[in-house]
Amino acid sequence: MRLSRYFLPVLKENPAEAQIVSHRYMLRAGMIKQQAAGIYSWLPLGYRVLKRIEQIVHEEQIRAGHIPLLMPTLQPADLWRESGRYDDYGQEMLRIKDRHERDMLYGPTNEEMITDIFRAHVSSYKDLPLTLYHIQWKFRDEVRPRFGVMRGREFLMKDGYNFDVDRDAALHAYNRHMVSYLRTYERMGLTAIPMRAASGPIGGDNTHEFLVLANTGESEVFYDDRVTGLKLGQREIDYDDRAQVAGVCEEFTTLYARTDETHDGALFDQIPEEHRKVGRGIEVGQIFYFGTKYSESMGATVVTKDGSKVPVEMGSHGIGVSRLLGAIIEASHDDKGIIWPEGVTPFPVGLVNLKQGDAAADAACADLEKALLARGLEPLYDDRDERAGAKFATMDLIGLPWRITVGPRGLTNGVVELTSRRTGQSEEMTPEAAVARIAEIYAAHP
Ligand code: ATP
Ligand code: MG
Repeated sequence: MRLSRYFLPVLKENPAEAQIVSHRYMLRAGMIKQQAAGIYSWLPLGYRVLKRIEQIVHEEQIRAGHIPLLMPTLQPADLWRESGRYDDYGQEMLRIKDRHERDMLYGPTNEEMITDIFRAHVSSYKDLPLTLYHIQWKFRDEVRPRFGVMRGREFLMKDGYNFDVDRDAALHAYNRHMVSYLRTYERMGLTAIPMRAASGPIGGDNTHEFLVLANTGESEVFYDDRVTGLKLGQREIDYDDRAQVAGVCEEFTTLYARTDETHDGALFDQIPEEHRKVGRGIEVGQIFYFGTKYSESMGATVVTKDGSKVPVEMGSHGIGVSRLLGAIIEASHDDKGIIWPEGVTPFPVGLVNLKQGDAAADAACADLEKALLARGLEPLYDDRDERAGAKFATMDLIGLPWRITVGPRGLTNGVVELTSRRTGQSEEMTPEAAVARIAEIYAAHP
């Protein structure tokens, strides 16, 4: 993509309405535009990151054996009357009437609808286990939408629902979600810690929230700091292997890590003092096992092997897809701008031409662009007729992890400069070597 033809409305000034760094940088980097409180347009650069995050979520869900579908944003109120939540949900639910005066709502979540789909088509244990999920816009009329996409009213969520014949199978589904979430966040360059949570209006006993440590986070967290060193890494997971999956969950949930809702001072005090930490965190996901809460009220049953009819065991599992952009920026930035982890960056590399109009520099940039594209690494090429300082400032603000700088002086020696956004370190090399290096880096971040 050439910057001269792109739509990247960067702001020079700090927007007054942004209280936290991620919101500030998302506005300044031209990623989002607010249309109403908590409702945003996703401008091209923000949209690219959002799509990238969505793609990682899809890949890891599919790897875990979960099946994508798509449910609508608007739902009939009657489904929610069956579960009793139409009255319970309160003011956060946006209620709408259609032209026939039928009660509708903009879905804040989808337990009822997925249960309705299930009961219409599944009736035997032979069709289980089954986990269906979608990535769809939600609406919650939050009292205080704030911090940009972090607490929106309209926001993108991945929500998945497991259906199992008994409690053991449902707990395996819960564990599968935990492991797939760990891998999802790691691919985004995040450390998200599963913390035991209190069950909210969805109900259920087994639930963990995933928190990214950040001092702007809304939750107070108490943890043993050795938990931040745990990594899933590249290990092979067989998602059908109950013992292996449960083992990983145990590894990640044994050290103390809780939010203020479930904090236990006596247990916390048993952590060696040098590891005892209190901080703040951003909730980027939550998993729930709630058993038969919806299947009982909505009549979703299956016939078991021995012929008896039982309500299906369920759980629901969410990832805050749009909130993740904010969380990643909170975790990865400096005073010049965003620093995207390779896994989610909108463009793998920026290309800066120091002297637009210089025949050798223009030709070298065009060649680099072509060579990168041929390897599936689309660069953002700043081909504008601007000062080098302005080009660098834009690149630093939008946070591409790598930059190739091309200038007439280097070219006389046959070299360009490759710079890491994270460390600021530069290295001179031939254009071919720069392309090969970029390709090598991204091969490690599929
Ligand atoms: P919170 O406690 O932050 O209000 P929640 O527990 O009500 O969130 P869930 O129902 O667990 O939210 O939704 C799954 C995920 O969706 C959350 O972990 C969070 O990452 C994201 N999410 C929830 N509400 C919002 C919102 N208003 N804006 C952006 N993301 C949200
Ligand atoms: Mg939650």
